[in-house]
Amino acid sequence: MSDGDADAPDGPENPPARRVSDWSAERLAGLADEHDTPLYVQDLDRVGENCERLRDAFPDADVRYAVKAHTGRAVLETVREAGLDAECASAGEVDRALAAGFGGDRLHYTAVNPPARDLDYVVGVAEAEPDLTVTVGAVDTLDRLAERGYDGRVCVRVNPGVGAGHHEKVRTGGAAKFGIPSDRAAEATRDAAERFDVVGIHAHAGSGIDSDQLDSHRELVARMGELARELAEPEDADGSPIDLEYVDVGGGFGVPYEEDAPALDLPAVAAATREAVAPLPAGVDLAIEPGRYVVADAGVLLTRVNTVKPTPDERVVGVDAGMTDLLRPAMYDAYHPIRNLGGGRESDGSDAPAPVDRSATPVTVAGPICETGDTLCTDRSLADPARGDLLAVGIAGAYGYEMANQYNSRPRPAEVALDDGTVAVVRRRETLGDLTTVERDANRTDRTEAGR
Ligand SMILES: *Cc1c(COP(=O)(O)O)cnc(C)c1O
Repeated sequence: MSDGDADAPDGPENPPARRVSDWSAERLAGLADEHDTPLYVQDLDRVGENCERLRDAFPDADVRYAVKAHTGRAVLETVREAGLDAECASAGEVDRALAAGFGGDRLHYTAVNPPARDLDYVVGVAEAEPDLTVTVGAVDTLDRLAERGYDGRVCVRVNPGVGAGHHEKVRTGGAAKFGIPSDRAAEATRDAAERFDVVGIHAHAGSGIDSDQLDSHRELVARMGELARELAEPEDADGSPIDLEYVDVGGGFGVPYEEDAPALDLPAVAAATREAVAPLPAGVDLAIEPGRYVVADAGVLLTRVNTVKPTPDERVVGVDAGMTDLLRPAMYDAYHPIRNLGGGRESDGSDAPAPVDRSATPVTVAGPICETGDTLCTDRSLADPARGDLLAVGIAGAYGYEMANQYNSRPRPAEVALDDGTVAVVRRRETLGDLTTVERDANRTDRTEAGR
């Protein structure tokens, strides 16, 4: 682990984690004033640094960005320029990756119970971009590709029977939904090779691998290494070996959501991965596909306090962002660090003191949606919030905007990207009119459009 030495690769230039306390309060307050709240802020420089750290830790591996963590165009372009490939979970993500300039040779489409519409689209793309790879986790999916005349590059997704993750709902490695069961994987791969150009095997254990969960990661990687060696041998006297290009051991690299959690020791994870997979047959590369790690600590969500309500049990702090803007706390009981940036007023109208001069108070921060689960945190100690304060919700760059939705007819928030000192609105704030654009009677007048 880095000790902060300036010569170390993880020195201050590119620290292994950016905390919510590392952002400039003044800068964030200025952005909120200019662009209103709720507002996502994504720092593209930090995205680039995260890519760089992954490539440094895994110099010989193919590094693919799992696009679903954040599909914004500016992020995709940053990741592409940093040399990572794109791993896409749907036709929509493939479409976005193409638009961001990823060529077929850098595109990986992972088909999980793929809708016919998605397969039709991707098979069409592959005609123009034959270097695209389709990762397949069921024999039915292979049949459906063959029915469409596809005989191109295929990677076989294996269910390794081991899972890891910060929450039940993201532990994919053991869930039967994902991948071909490991006891049938070798046979299914050999069968697939008769119809397709089989180039890889793949497994993804889930999300949230941290230094404590390295054992299950090691186990998954070791099984994949074994399978690669098995496939490199012909099955019988007249069989032929499967000529793999890579073994993809998935993503799931954790980030420190809790203020006192250590940053992931990426060099240690890389060393454990290399050791567990080895020796790979000649010509077979290791591949990884992190999503969260690339974008999480590059993003914050800014939200404004509009209501402060003392109750007998707790202080409830109402804000203008909720589960429709950031779903993770409601969906996964996820912890996001929250920092009070101040700027609010006392009940008598005077300026509230700077947050450092306030006492820490346990609070529940709740959004505007009619759901009990619509909280960003409960029983959290914050510099006593005042109405009008700006709160920064940290580590919100992954699965933040991506999971935003319009429940309760809430327009989705705006997003700005920071890039080498410049600020650009990369997703404008939705209006009330946007809520009804797909409805039959959508052509009613949006009376608020002018004001918003
Ligand atoms: C979601 C996903 C990833 C990335 O997971 P992270 O936890 O964001 O790193 C990688 N591979 C596949 C197949 C996925 O579905």
